[in-house]
Amino acid sequence: MSKVVTDTSVLRVCRTLRQRYGRPRLGNPTDPIDDLVFVTLSNKSAPNVSERVYKDLKQKFPNWESFLSAPSLRLRNVLRPAGLWRKRSRYLRAALRKIFRDFGHFDIRSLKNWETDRAISYLSRLPGVSEKVARCVLLYTLGFKVLPVDVHVHRVATRLGWTKRRRPDQCHSELEGLVPPRWRFSFHVGALLHGREVCRPREPKCEVCCIRRECEYYRKKYRGNKRKCIVQ
Ligand code: SF4
Repeated sequence: MSKVVTDTSVLRVCRTLRQRYGRPRLGNPTDPIDDLVFVTLSNKSAPNVSERVYKDLKQKFPNWESFLSAPSLRLRNVLRPAGLWRKRSRYLRAALRKIFRDFGHFDIRSLKNWETDRAISYLSRLPGVSEKVARCVLLYTLGFKVLPVDVHVHRVATRLGWTKRRRPDQCHSELEGLVPPRWRFSFHVGALLHGREVCRPREPKCEVCCIRRECEYYRKKYRGNKRKCIVQ
């Protein structure tokens, strides 16, 4: 992590992102199992596609029993637009079966009474569920103050100079050490939207970026060119 990162700078970024993007739920359902399926579908899929597939899935399979007993062909037709339908259907079915075995029903809201580490560990051991997905479910539906780091959040944090770790899944604890619990939800959604819309992988739109004053990448990019750099 860069030495110039201070608590004040982190809070300025959190406040600015919240002013700019608010605290949207990004379409995440309120039930934790629904959200587990929703977030799993959104991995490696465009947001509009995964949202459409999720809605279709809920319409075609009004309960999880019908999803588990459906013929593969029916599942394929529903999941195919999101890609990787074989893998997704195998993992989703295995995860749902395990939940039913462990809880006795398709309801995991009691996880909210668990310790954070135990809840993360349980969810991320379900078939096909990464730690990021587990953290998303806990953050969006169960009130845990955890910080999921996806590729967009990772890119923004890296350019800000908050982490030097190469992969998003290596940064959860490090970024949680920087972002106070009450800011984690708004930072997560704000950085995610900022990474999609402004701090893009190629050609980030630094000139219109609301957090450029706190950004290490921006300072380095315009070093020696003070006329262009708005941060002096
Ligand atoms: S100034 Fe540029 S690199 Fe830095 S966060 Fe904004 S868009 Fe990303």
